[in-house]
Formats: sequence, structure tokens, C-alpha cells
Amino acid sequence: MPNTKETKGVIRAVPAARTAAAALASLDPDDLIVADERVSELEGLIHRQLELIGEDPERDGLIKTPSRVAKSMAWLTRGYELNARDVIGDALFEESHEQMVMVRDIEMYSMCEHHMLPFFGKVHVAYIPNGKIVGLSKLPRVVEVFARRLQVQERLGEQIANAIDEVLQPRGVGVVIEAVHLCMMMRGVEKQSSRTITSSLRGLFKDDAKTRSEFLRLAHGRMEGY
Ligand SMILES: [Zn+2]
Repeated sequence: MPNTKETKGVIRAVPAARTAAAALASLDPDDLIVADERVSELEGLIHRQLELIGEDPERDGLIKTPSRVAKSMAWLTRGYELNARDVIGDALFEESHEQMVMVRDIEMYSMCEHHMLPFFGKVHVAYIPNGKIVGLSKLPRVVEVFARRLQVQERLGEQIANAIDEVLQPRGVGVVIEAVHLCMMMRGVEKQSSRTITSSLRGLFKDDAKTRSEFLRLAHGRMEGY
């Protein structure tokens, strides 16, 4: 049984078993078979939401919408069931390499916690090893762990940096996120083209000006001198 106390009011489709979390991480949202009372409760709420905005939830086009939205929400917030240590697993290797390792342009999709609308863009992650390196394909997975939750962009970057710092204990970590926020674009709060750029720096990336500027130059040419 899921721990309903801990998760009350939170839309999650996964019972306590870790295997379910693994399944959630890989399935297409429309393929999810979710046997969780929270998802059926959510379906009821979405049905009511449709009524409240002036729709007819019983018309043909909307009849399956509450179920689709509930499953989609479970999938889009599956990061709550994942953690960085698990996704990195045993992909840690001893290595004496001491130069910056960087993965640029990691696709990121998340949802702002203020409006529950998407924000999305690119994440650039770099670190300087201190005896250990991580399989490069794992860095996008770490981004995924934290992006698939309700977020603010600043905290997303901090959590990615902290996770890499904890697992790898490198000499430094840098995370830059460039994103657009639908809550600003759709609601006309800011110009449609405006991007939000945040950086989270640890160790040498914070303390050493040369490392920092090299990273920021690689992360984004236009950010030189940032
Ligand atoms: Zn927002």
C-alpha cells in the first residue's frame, strides 16, 4: 500500500515498490496502467475542474480526458520517486583525469510550482573530477530526477549541482539552465522571447575565476563575462 500520509494531496501513481518507480520512469504516459487510488481521485478532480471552467466533461472529446490528465500528471512528476544515487547506480569509475567534463544542451522539461505550467529549455552540466568520473549518459538522467517535479528554475539547478556534488565529490560543479516559462509567455507577463538563465556553482566553479569563466563561456558563448 502507498504511504498515504506522506503523499496525501500529491499526485503520484506509484505504490511503495521500487519496481513501480522504475516502470514509471520508462513508460509512455498514455501506456501507464496505474492502480492507485490517488490517480482515480485525481480523475474526479479533473472531471470537476472541467465543469468549473464551463466545459461538459461528458462530451465525446473530453470523456477520457480526466484519465489521460491523471496519468500524464503522474508521469510528469515521476521525479519524486527517483533519486540521483539510484539513476547513477554503478556508473562511477576511477579516473585520474583532472580537466573539466561537460555535457551541454541537455533537454529539460519541468513544471513551475506556482502555476503548474511547463518551463523547458537546456541544461549544461560540468564538473572537475577528483578521482571519479560518471558515465556521461547519467548526467541527463540526474537532470530528469529533479526536473520531473514541481519546480522553480533556481532550485532545479541547485538540486542538480548538489546531487552531483554528493555522489561524485568532485573538485567543482557547474550547472547552467536556460529556460522559457509558459506561465510568463501564455499569460503575457513578459515578452515571449525572454529566457531565464540561472547558474549554480560549487567548489572551483565558484572559487576560481578562471574555471568559472571557462565554464560559462563553454555553457553559452554569449554569457562570457557573466
Ligand atoms: Zn509559474
